[in-house]
Amino acid sequence: MKTIGLIGGMSWESTQTYYRLLNQKVRDDLGGLHSARLVLYSVDFAEIEALQHQGDWQATAEILGSAARSVESAGAEFLVLCTNTMHKVAPQIERAVSIPLLHIADATANVLKKDGVTCVGLLGTRFTMEQTFYLGRLQDHGIRVVVPDEPQRECIHSVIYNELCRGVVKSDSKTMYLDVVASLAERGAQGVILGCTEIGLLIQGSDTDVQLYDTTEIHAEQAVQLALGRI
Ligand code: GLU
Repeated sequence: MKTIGLIGGMSWESTQTYYRLLNQKVRDDLGGLHSARLVLYSVDFAEIEALQHQGDWQATAEILGSAARSVESAGAEFLVLCTNTMHKVAPQIERAVSIPLLHIADATANVLKKDGVTCVGLLGTRFTMEQTFYLGRLQDHGIRVVVPDEPQRECIHSVIYNELCRGVVKSDSKTMYLDVVASLAERGAQGVILGCTEIGLLIQGSDTDVQLYDTTEIHAEQAVQLALGRI
């Protein structure tokens, strides 16, 4: 089994989901007392969040590049960056190390293509929903992406930072998210990507008839497949 290098803490609410899923999936596959071999570097999210909103992505790249070097020198054989948004600086992180990065948008696109999805809705932070680093990556896989309208994007973004990343789960926010999911489906999305690693704490597949693609679950599954040499 390969050693997985996690860069987490963005926020730690979702990193604990990654930790649980990776271990459960390794146990389900190998049985007995098997668990995931991994190294975790967990950052202080307040620092990252402030830099994101100031637009100082170069500073975030330096912090995450240094975290990547730490997990590499601790024995990690590939990287899992436990956030969609910070894949904005994936190229700089990749340049900082000699081990590969399992890109969350590629992992998600692989599942979409397997399911025959050619048009998908996307929920995430404003950075993820509005900038090209994520949308463009999905489009490179031949997938058309539909994003919520401006007022919806503001609400989705605000719930992520003000509630989910602080461990707060509210029923009115859940209703709002499900309304947005329904509106994306009405606009032609065959499924909706939960493109922020905390959204699965708020809505799950059982809440809607629309097919949801939870990036935390998908990313963890492909990390285990890679660690176990299945892909
Ligand atoms: N975990 C979130 C994501 O997947 C948002 C936190 C962050 O900005 O990294 O995008």
